[in-house]
Amino acid sequence: MKAVVIDSPNELTIKKIADPTPKADEVVVKVDACGICGTDIHVLRGEFEPTRYPIVPGHEFCGEVVGAGRGVRNLKTGDFVAVDPSLFDGSCRQCRAGHFNLCENWNAIGVGSANGACAEFVAVPAANAFRLPTDIPRDWGALVEPLSCAVHGLDMIEGRVADSYLIYGAGTMGLMLGQLIRHAGASQIDVVERNPARHELAKKLAADSVAVTADELRHQGGWDVVIDATGVVPAIEDGLQRVARGGTFLMFGVANADAKATFSPFRVYNDEIKIVGSMAVLHSFERALALLVRGVIDCKAMITQQFGLDDYPKAIEAFLGGKGLKTQVKPAL
Ligand SMILES: [Zn+2]
Repeated sequence: MKAVVIDSPNELTIKKIADPTPKADEVVVKVDACGICGTDIHVLRGEFEPTRYPIVPGHEFCGEVVGAGRGVRNLKTGDFVAVDPSLFDGSCRQCRAGHFNLCENWNAIGVGSANGACAEFVAVPAANAFRLPTDIPRDWGALVEPLSCAVHGLDMIEGRVADSYLIYGAGTMGLMLGQLIRHAGASQIDVVERNPARHELAKKLAADSVAVTADELRHQGGWDVVIDATGVVPAIEDGLQRVARGGTFLMFGVANADAKATFSPFRVYNDEIKIVGSMAVLHSFERALALLVRGVIDCKAMITQQFGLDDYPKAIEAFLGGKGLKTQVKPAL
């Protein structure tokens, strides 16, 4: 089969490799679409510690089951599935507490030790594959993974109906969070986005107001929940100051590992501010799938660029260029 292979950091080739064969508890998926996100850039550049090279990248994907190991009970050939890429050992202290996303040996398909979906086929544990209805456009299935990260983020804030929200960043994740929140029942959703070209879609999909800085968005007493979906330190520092008394700040964006932000410890004490983090997916994949099928996310608006396997470098370039929203690789192109 044809596959994108990262042989070592920054060494990428598109070549023929052996088709995957399923182990007893695995299925082989013929890939329909695979999204690109910031994690792929870290894998490409050798910045993600658990990555074992060579590796086929790609962890946000969907496709059709074309083969199954003899122990597989939950799926059959012909099923259309989205795949939760999370891999964990199930036996460490965090796993035994149910925190599988914090596993001491956590990694993911296409990210850590297992080949991913920027290929014609990929073998995955059957337990990680979730069946989708066949009457939705197939490319949409690759949005379940990022959506399940957003669902986990909302789990972490333990919000209430009619809370007010301020979101930093109107990229793919900011807009997914915004659409989810709108569906869940918010009194107000405001968005800060430095790129005015993104304002119109943010308004259409999720936001009551969008502005380049939060100074233009007045909300008496601050917002109940402030979410950073940028990972950028000035946005994080600004957002921490906009949380209402008793409110919550969600650190959703991925900051650089060595980044430092300043905040007022007195305010966190005096105003009882909660600062919470959210990493990847936890018990949220199936719920994300249900919401996607229900139409909570405007999938058509979210997928803005698609490339064939041969054009993987162009897909990376398009992602880094920051234009549009979700960039996908589609082996059939
Ligand atoms: Zn573990």
